[in-house]
Amino acid sequence: MPGGWQVATVVGINDETDRAKTFRLRLHEPRPHLAGQHYVFRLTAPDGYTASRSYSIASAPDGSAEREFTVERLADGEVSMFLHDVVEVGDELEVRGPIGGWFVWDGSTPALLVGGGSGIVPLMSMLRLARSTGRSDRVRLVVSVRAPEDLWYAQELPGPETAVVDSLRSRGFAVAVAIAIMVVARRLYKRIRSRAQRPTEPGLQRAAHWLAVRAWMEPRGFEGASSFAANNASRALAYAAALGLAERATDELPIVPEDDRLAWSNATGEWHVVRVRYPFRPGYGRHPGLMLLVGLVVGGGLLALQRFLLEVARGEALRSVFEDFPDQADLIETTALVLAAITIAPLLWMAWLVIAGAFDIFSTVERQGLVVRARRPQRVVPFPRLLRPLARRDRFALFIAVDDGRSDRVGAWLSNERTAVPQGARARVRATPVLGYVRSSEPVGTAR
Ligand SMILES: Cc1cc2nc3c(=O)[nH]c(=O)nc-3n(C[C@H](O)[C@H](O)[C@H](O)COP(=O)(O)OP(=O)(O)OC[C@H]3O[C@@H](n4cnc5c(N)ncnc54)[C@H](O)[C@@H]3O)c2cc1C
Repeated sequence: MPGGWQVATVVGINDETDRAKTFRLRLHEPRPHLAGQHYVFRLTAPDGYTASRSYSIASAPDGSAEREFTVERLADGEVSMFLHDVVEVGDELEVRGPIGGWFVWDGSTPALLVGGGSGIVPLMSMLRLARSTGRSDRVRLVVSVRAPEDLWYAQELPGPETAVVDSLRSRGFAVAVAIAIMVVARRLYKRIRSRAQRPTEPGLQRAAHWLAVRAWMEPRGFEGASSFAANNASRALAYAAALGLAERATDELPIVPEDDRLAWSNATGEWHVVRVRYPFRPGYGRHPGLMLLVGLVVGGGLLALQRFLLEVARGEALRSVFEDFPDQADLIETTALVLAAITIAPLLWMAWLVIAGAFDIFSTVERQGLVVRARRPQRVVPFPRLLRPLARRDRFALFIAVDDGRSDRVGAWLSNERTAVPQGARARVRATPVLGYVRSSEPVGTAR
């Protein structure tokens, strides 16, 4: 049974985290309590106004007259702010308890304890009881925190019977897994919906025939093509096209249809399908020296800005603003922190430009083969159609994918008006490995 109101003396105050303090109170009329019970604290203003709030007991029942309570400081919280900002060791507080009979544990049964925030306080009392009576085997405690520095009782809590879940990290991991699943699902969906057929041995042989006809006709055009250029099967396709059955005919053909990302290539003398990638990352296709410079200058500026914003948040800069608007101190601090956080993304971007630029300045890769694809960036960027104009650059740019027959996957590089090569040409192209900036290109031999 709870007693009536009594006075308790504050005999100790400890910081648990930035926002949580543990108060050690000596009761003048101590009553035994169970782990999980709480006390009510009552504050009385000089004008008689009172405010009461409940606080769980954090200490284990140990027969002493002292009890511990951990209080989280809530922004604009009437009682918690008073306890945090005003109460000192030696002060007296009015309390009533112990109260509560539903959420208690006497140590006799196994208990699984799961909590977070201030909800961990009564669980701590139970854990302390289990440990002090040598019955740790009866409890398992799982604590969830946003970040490791938010953990209360950080020195005491860890042990074989406890587990701390860092929810921000696990949430971040869950988001990453969800994104990965979505990407894989999108690829699977595209593959299932794709009308492209899987190349088979007989299919490849027939495809080689059709592609040879096409390669023969391409430089000559249709007009010059003799009817002997095509055998009966080719003629059947011509009839099908004439009769408006071309789409059906292409369905029947054992050929993987080509598009921006799929190309037939005979760079090695043998026809094979090449998958073309159009990398999309900051600075791609730009001169590495320029990117290094931009990264250093803009990154340096951003770093200085971020440092300044953090100083503002700590109250070390723009003091006059704090003095002019003391009521808005929290708002100014939060705004500065949010702005400082926002600068992280462009800072990472600039760091990437510095690393990639510095690496690429001294490195070049060369590829000689068939230019299987030449595409303008706005056609192949992974943006929804509406946003594609954003990929337009003032200067001419052309993705070129050179197949040298070494792999069925080719990453396209970005060329400019000086280094661009038309699709179908054979060329020797030199580019930087990370930023894919085409340094030079020269034709070698004729088109396919
Ligand atoms: C059984 C029990 C045990 C508890 N144990 C603990 C414990 O161990 N540790 C602990 O820290 N807490 C514990 N609590 C919670 C505690 O009792 C208080 O609720 C808490 O400290 C907030 O009180 P406060 O007076 O500081 O805030 P309040 O003044 O009550 O305000 C609470 C929140 O509401 C906001 N608010 C207030 N008024 C308004 C308004 N008009 N409009 C919008 N928002 C408003 C405040 O800004 C604040 O963020 C426990 C509660 C219960 C019931």
